[in-house]
Amino acid sequence: MTGIASPLPSIDALLRSPEAAVMLARFGSSAVTAALRDSLAVHRAAARFGLATAAILGETADRLAARFARSQRPVFNMTGTVLHTNLGRSPLPPEAAEAAAEALRHATSVEFDLATGRRGERDDHIGGLLRELTGAEACTVVNNNAAAVMLVLNTLALGKEVLVSRGELIEIGGSFRLPDIMSRSGAILKEVGTTNRTHARDYAEAIAAPVGAIMRVHRANYAITGFTATVPVGVLATIAHDGGIPLIEDLGSGSLVDLERWGLPHEPTPRESLMAGADVVTFSGDKLLGGPQAGLIVGHKDVIAAIGRNPLKRAVRVDKGRLAALEVVLRLYLDPDRLAERVPALRLLVRPEAEIRATSERIAPAIAARWPDRGVAVEACRSQIGSGALPRDMLPSTAVTLGGGSLEVLAKTLRDLPRPVIGRMSRGRLILDCRCLEATDEAAFIAQIA
Ligand SMILES: *Cc1c(COP(=O)(O)O)cnc(C)c1O
Repeated sequence: MTGIASPLPSIDALLRSPEAAVMLARFGSSAVTAALRDSLAVHRAAARFGLATAAILGETADRLAARFARSQRPVFNMTGTVLHTNLGRSPLPPEAAEAAAEALRHATSVEFDLATGRRGERDDHIGGLLRELTGAEACTVVNNNAAAVMLVLNTLALGKEVLVSRGELIEIGGSFRLPDIMSRSGAILKEVGTTNRTHARDYAEAIAAPVGAIMRVHRANYAITGFTATVPVGVLATIAHDGGIPLIEDLGSGSLVDLERWGLPHEPTPRESLMAGADVVTFSGDKLLGGPQAGLIVGHKDVIAAIGRNPLKRAVRVDKGRLAALEVVLRLYLDPDRLAERVPALRLLVRPEAEIRATSERIAPAIAARWPDRGVAVEACRSQIGSGALPRDMLPSTAVTLGGGSLEVLAKTLRDLPRPVIGRMSRGRLILDCRCLEATDEAAFIAQIA
């Protein structure tokens, strides 16, 4: 500091300005004072003195806006991956989101039995529905499928070996790796078979030693092709039951309905797995089911009862908001004919290509007007289901694509929009897959581009 330049305005003087009054009303005095101090410090450090009041107040306003802006924000998912884990997977039906918001705002009967006035069970809100939809004797719900797998293993196989085929030792997105989850659950992984071929006799031989359970894991995000062999659930169930141990199946995406109904490839359902003899089946709430993040566990009464007595269950329980949303989504499954209209995840997956193309053509002019030098085009592309469901099956779709110049700069500009637009880059173009941009969102999309 030179000491002779005109001094910076004082905090008090700044706080008395009309600009500060607006900020104070919005953000409160402690945040505004702190932000003013930060702005002053920057000016002092840069030895920027003199008529700085307007600049300091302007910077303070920006600082406060950034500090109070929400970090998690809605985005336009134009990646072409419908159930994108990093973008929150399944969007909820509006009535499910409303039920969640209402439950979060108020006291609810989450663990209160309104009939008797006594303590109730969290699981009771979804128990009947889930039993009806899967044919299970009993069920429970936890934080996510990773927690479901961990809890099942910890309950049924603590300190015991669990047989898993070498072809099923999956990793889902880095943080869910079956061998790691298994060791943290306290079960001991016992690999059987080989990567490409596992036979019934591999399990039968391994079961000669004391074993806690057999586990089957759905090959959610990969496929093994060529010279392969797997053991059907029914055969595995027989081997497990002959050995007096349970068969656990981790289905991952676990659709509650047969997707072939909408021309999508078959994905095993919990009902099929239970009917074939699995004792307990786990799957996610926010994959093909189209609900909130949750881990669903369905199976035999005694298994579910044992899980209920496990102290770890409390550590992975689901909150009342998500439970409310899940209940609403499950109830939509009681009317399967209208599912594809009402459950957004399914609606987006079965959306007709012609409709996606029409959306692309309607939004392309706005994009071309904003970026005239980017060679904006409407092109056929392929979307994927995501979250490991049906990895090989790419859905025909349409995108608006951009090129020329730095794609990184362009992608950043799109991410900086009020509702960020997230696309994907492929072969030198930025692809904005329009599958997940529904007609109801088009106007908002176009408005912020323009
Ligand atoms: C997705 C998946 C999981 C993890 O489920 P989350 O709900 O993400 O915890 C576990 N197993 C399989 C087979 C999966 O596909």
